[in-house]
Amino acid sequence: MVKQTIQIFARVKPTVRKQQQGIYSIDEDEKLIPSLEIILPRDLADGFVNNKRESYKFKFQRIFDQDANQETIFENIAKPVAESVLAGYNGTIFAYGQTGSGKTFTITGGAERYSDRGIIPRTLSYIFEQSQKDSSKIYTTHISYLEIYNECGYDLLDPRHEASSLEDLPKVTILEDPDQNIHLKNLSLHQATTEEEALNLLFLGDTNRMIAETPMNQASTRSHCIFTIHLSSKEPGSATVRHAKLHLVDLAGSERVAKTGVGGLLLTEAKYINLSLHYLEQVIIALSEKHRLHIPYRNSMMTSVLRDSLGGNCMTTMIATLSLEKRNIDESISTCRFAQRVALIKNEAVLNEEIDPRLMIIRLQKEIQELKDELAIVTGEQRTEALTEAELLQLEKLITSFLEDQDPESRLEVGADMRKIHHCFHHLKKLLQDKKIHEKSTVSSEIKDQNCQEPLKEEEHKKLRDILQQRDNEINILVNMLKKEKKKAQDALHLSSMDRNEFRHSQSSPFPPGNPEGPRTLPSSAPTQVHDSSAVGYRSSLLHRKTEMREEMSLGRQEAFEIFKRDHADSVTIEDNKQILKQRFSEAKALGENINEARSKIGRLKEEITQRHLQQVALGISENMAVPSVPDLQEEKLRSQLEEEKKRYKTMFTHLKALKVEIEHLQLLMDKAKVKLQKEFEAWWAEEATSLQVDTPAVQSLNLTKPFHQTPESLHERPQLLSNKSIPKRPTSSIPLTGDSQTDSDILAFIKARQNILQKKCFQ
Ligand code: ADP
Ligand code: MG
Repeated sequence: MVKQTIQIFARVKPTVRKQQQGIYSIDEDEKLIPSLEIILPRDLADGFVNNKRESYKFKFQRIFDQDANQETIFENIAKPVAESVLAGYNGTIFAYGQTGSGKTFTITGGAERYSDRGIIPRTLSYIFEQSQKDSSKIYTTHISYLEIYNECGYDLLDPRHEASSLEDLPKVTILEDPDQNIHLKNLSLHQATTEEEALNLLFLGDTNRMIAETPMNQASTRSHCIFTIHLSSKEPGSATVRHAKLHLVDLAGSERVAKTGVGGLLLTEAKYINLSLHYLEQVIIALSEKHRLHIPYRNSMMTSVLRDSLGGNCMTTMIATLSLEKRNIDESISTCRFAQRVALIKNEAVLNEEIDPRLMIIRLQKEIQELKDELAIVTGEQRTEALTEAELLQLEKLITSFLEDQDPESRLEVGADMRKIHHCFHHLKKLLQDKKIHEKSTVSSEIKDQNCQEPLKEEEHKKLRDILQQRDNEINILVNMLKKEKKKAQDALHLSSMDRNEFRHSQSSPFPPGNPEGPRTLPSSAPTQVHDSSAVGYRSSLLHRKTEMREEMSLGRQEAFEIFKRDHADSVTIEDNKQILKQRFSEAKALGENINEARSKIGRLKEEITQRHLQQVALGISENMAVPSVPDLQEEKLRSQLEEEKKRYKTMFTHLKALKVEIEHLQLLMDKAKVKLQKEFEAWWAEEATSLQVDTPAVQSLNLTKPFHQTPESLHERPQLLSNKSIPKRPTSSIPLTGDSQTDSDILAFIKARQNILQKKCFQ
């Protein structure tokens, strides 16, 4: 068991303006506990009615200033957690801070550069690298991605749904079993066998997260996202499996609303915008106070899901993200205060080991076979399942002579064979019963047949009865033991099938809370559906479909899309990434060629060495002398060349592997950027259409037969981004969004006309 308080780190986001210095300072002189001092600018400090303090000091495990890059953050914060997860402990890393302070950047990464990738992709990379290196264990990785918005959970990785709004995604609900373990119903679990597969899942979830967001729900600032890596490991041949979960959590923005009626900045008592963060704080307060018995985890979905991470079986780390600009001082101080409380919470992480019943049965069966084999060696007999007729006859003869033997010391020797021992007991029992029946019948018929067996003397009779009693007891003990073993095996079988069913079919047969048949062995907050990697094909096609945007657009709309794209800020990034991607592709191609070359060179060198060796041996034979003891210089030279070449091959191969991941990441970044562009275009298109209706009375002359009603809701409604399949769902009055080519060219003409006017205005 590892006892540890929650580790707290601070990360300061780079400021746009450089003149923000003087607002904070980092003191790392106190070698052990670094501290962050936030200094209130004089004008702000004066604004406080009750608070004249001018600086606040907070201690953190480490503070990362503006220049800390993603690599440093991973190495110092996430890597140690990933290591303990590989060892079998649960881990959680959560980012907490106001909107815009860098939570998503830290947890997932930036949307532009490969070097900006955040904790999730780096951790995935590290976990796959380490698990491939470690040949002493077999690792299995599953991924789930949950978004919690407004107390509702949504599965971001559901392969059956194409999200165009949060409501389209399957709703995830919480079930609690009698042991108070949390189960997440409807959260799909996907196996990832390679880093690329895991990356694809991350981007699929992120894309769903982005396109499901509307200005109305502001999901990215008001929802919590929990990316979970479920890692199982076991040693080959062992029945013990370790399960560890790593939650990587991007919390909702922690900004608060100041109490009304008080002007200026307020450093106390402001309320969270997000209610579940309020409940998170309640849990943190309860945990940091000694002797509190009740911790209000159940108040919100997020605290229920993260129950183990907070004061439970988990190694937890918090990253306080700070945007230390003058206008954010109050929020930054709140974030630091929250962190100080979190640092008081003690967790106790234990190794999550359990016996896999299926593996246990296999192991026991193997053990039985081994014991049978061993027994066969000791007794020199090969055991078959049943005794043969001859053996049975032989045994019965032995019993008869044993019973007839007058020597009290005589023994019944049948050897160390349980089957024979059992048969002896059965036979004796039968004899005894026969005798009893016989005695009874003789008594009732007043001894009709005097020629039957000599009656045993009373004393001998008693002795025999005692022996039989003793044997009977032994048999009973053995039978009981057998029954117990059988029951254990049946239980184990039942449990394993229950586990499988529960994992696969929980959607149709959930264990309701309080059901005593509920799963006992599942780790808490286990998602309840497993998808194998066959879903990967679907996923990539889904992503592909999502990026295949313009196929079904009308010509007018396509042209407008080109204009929009040209002027969009992200198009520069997309173009840049395209260039980098091209470069990486040609690098990878060249590297691939070099690798092939190196491989054939290695083959040639090996061949040459063998030839040379054979030559030397042949020379030795022909000159009638042993192989020369002096090393052959030529061969040595070849060998060192071979070593060099192998090294080169290995380096290039590692490089190519890294390039492959980078290419995959860049492609996914671009796909995501394209979807974003498309989404924004649709919003812009809708807006232009509204302006067309509002601004131009000439709209009547256009081919719009019905007025175009667009309420604020419908404006903010998620545009159908990825296909026109859902067009019929739209109200027929929303003509401009139907993809009707005539209408679309009208809007385009309108947009162009507006642009012309604007341009003219600029030149006037
Ligand atoms: P949050 O998720 O907390 O709302 P984001 O992670 O979205 O904040 O960050 C807001 C903006 O700041 C994004 O454009 C992001 O790329 C940028 N950003 C955040 N942290 C950093 C950083 N450490 N270095 C560079 N850019 C950053
Ligand atoms: Mg964010």
